[in-house]
Amino acid sequence: MPELPEVEITARRLDAALRGAEVESALAPGMVALKSVAVPLGDLAGRRIEGVRRIGKMPVVEFAEAGDDRGPLSLLVHLMSAGRLQVFDKRASLRDRASRVLIRIADGRELRLREFGTRQRAWAKLMPAADVAADEMVATLGPEAWPAPPIDELAGIVDAPRQLHPLLRDQREIAGIGRSWVDEILWEARLGPFRKGSDLEADDVDQLHSALAVLGAALDRYEEVIGATVPDKLPMPLKVHRREGEPCPRCGVTLAAVHFAEHSTTYCPAEQTGGRVLKDRRLSRLLK
Ligand SMILES: [Zn+2]
Repeated sequence: MPELPEVEITARRLDAALRGAEVESALAPGMVALKSVAVPLGDLAGRRIEGVRRIGKMPVVEFAEAGDDRGPLSLLVHLMSAGRLQVFDKRASLRDRASRVLIRIADGRELRLREFGTRQRAWAKLMPAADVAADEMVATLGPEAWPAPPIDELAGIVDAPRQLHPLLRDQREIAGIGRSWVDEILWEARLGPFRKGSDLEADDVDQLHSALAVLGAALDRYEEVIGATVPDKLPMPLKVHRREGEPCPRCGVTLAAVHFAEHSTTYCPAEQTGGRVLKDRRLSRLLK
């Protein structure tokens, strides 16, 4: 669920809270969450946190060098759908089943990767900072969706015989957009979710480019309303996503949705699909 604006505000708040803090120890109660083998978590002991930043939808925690030959280290985190990276004043009980990775700070605080639900999908990878750019999860990313890439670059990205909804969520094409913000971006741009990218006119690409600004607007909103600690559930300023049946905030027509097995896309039939209501893609339709 966390997408570019949510991960960016998380990284900014963690950076403010942790920059300069010294690590006492680190452990991974959810062993499967730890993907790295090259650098053991124990190597973080004694290092200082240099900062927290974001690449696409992934937070990255940077650790200063510690006098050994590994140099600075980076912890690349993938929150998947239910992970959260948060700093707590007190340490977690080891019985807390939501804990995946715990980084204990010398002053008593703890940076914790937690995951809600029973599935373990969130992960973290510890590696030399110099290796981050070449990591497969980073090297394969398209340009960041915010700030928006130059319009010519965006035109090149969408010029493919693929539907816009999956295309814009493909991190290899453009990084940072997921199931929530893609609905908002397409609604802002007045483009149907299943339009093919290669069918867009220059004006459509212009509108899509301008629509990427919703990501920056969301971030501005988070800067206003979110304090020092990012809550479990962010107050996402969404206008259409999951608002099927409500009036379109722009034209008043009832918003429609297409449901898939695990997600849905909401759109305005009047402004995005020329009045056409799109077919449901749910498998349950066939199973009835
Ligand atoms: Zn509308």
